[in-house]
Amino acid sequence: MTSANLMGKIQQLKMKRKAVILAHNYQRPEIQDIADFVGDSLELSLCATQTDAEVIIFCGVKFMAETAAILNPDKMVLMPDKNALCPMAAMLPGELVQLYRKKYSNAKVVLYINTLAEAKANCDAVCTSANSAEILERMDSETVLFGPDWNLAQYAKNHTKKHVVSIPKFGFCPVHILFNKEAILKLKEIHPDAEVLAHPECTPEVCGVADFVGSTSKMYRQALVSKAKKFIVATEVGLLHRMKKDRIGAIFIPAYEEAVCAQMKLHTLEKLYLSLKNKRYEVKISPKIMTSARNAVEIMLRTRETLD
Ligand code: SF4
Repeated sequence: MTSANLMGKIQQLKMKRKAVILAHNYQRPEIQDIADFVGDSLELSLCATQTDAEVIIFCGVKFMAETAAILNPDKMVLMPDKNALCPMAAMLPGELVQLYRKKYSNAKVVLYINTLAEAKANCDAVCTSANSAEILERMDSETVLFGPDWNLAQYAKNHTKKHVVSIPKFGFCPVHILFNKEAILKLKEIHPDAEVLAHPECTPEVCGVADFVGSTSKMYRQALVSKAKKFIVATEVGLLHRMKKDRIGAIFIPAYEEAVCAQMKLHTLEKLYLSLKNKRYEVKISPKIMTSARNAVEIMLRTRETLD
């Protein structure tokens, strides 16, 4: 089947199933182009709560689809490829959170949205890169355990009075760790008029040389409103597709061309078609994990409202 045929069939099946297609900013261009909504993990989860569709096809990694399922217990959430797992989220399984809880019995636990549902169910609050400091401050303990991203923990440490302990000791995103401060400075020498946009999962050194640091959607919005006409982008290369499409005439330079999240790229048009056709692969979460994880996620959503 050609891509055009596949796209036609996907549109037909989408209507038949009363489905909505959500795609993360790092998805393949053709998946972004056929999606109803493209955004970061938080935006997509919120989007899922606002749709009246009966089926949500989530083109992203598992923790994202799980968050959509947690917030939409009455809807069917499907992933075109069930093996799309975030390696950083996998660094902090639920059992490890429990072990840290025992070790630091007086500490509260705040987890980044990039965690599996089983980990979220064992924490006190979930946060995004935008509200991590504010949520940490709200915890009624001197010490707060924070994970799984060490880089984000450093950022949060610099913005709160809390004693922040990273769990695990050095969790990281294998894609954002690839960016290098010297390489970005060299690009900046070649393109002195370019604005550097970086994701907070990059190292503090990389964030330190960026003109703007924010989630993928914040980077995207900055690229639309900035006076600059050239951008050096330090995040997964998938985001550049959306930026180029919506800011015609501007130049977008990847800070590292090989910054590709292989897990995000597992979803293809063919798998999306099969997912709609066969109603696969459904994201299922046990009722116990669902209730605890939902409480922690709702704290994140309430705090987000005060920030926007
Ligand atoms: S880019 Fe990093 S944090 Fe995002 S899904 Fe891939 S491995 Fe996980």
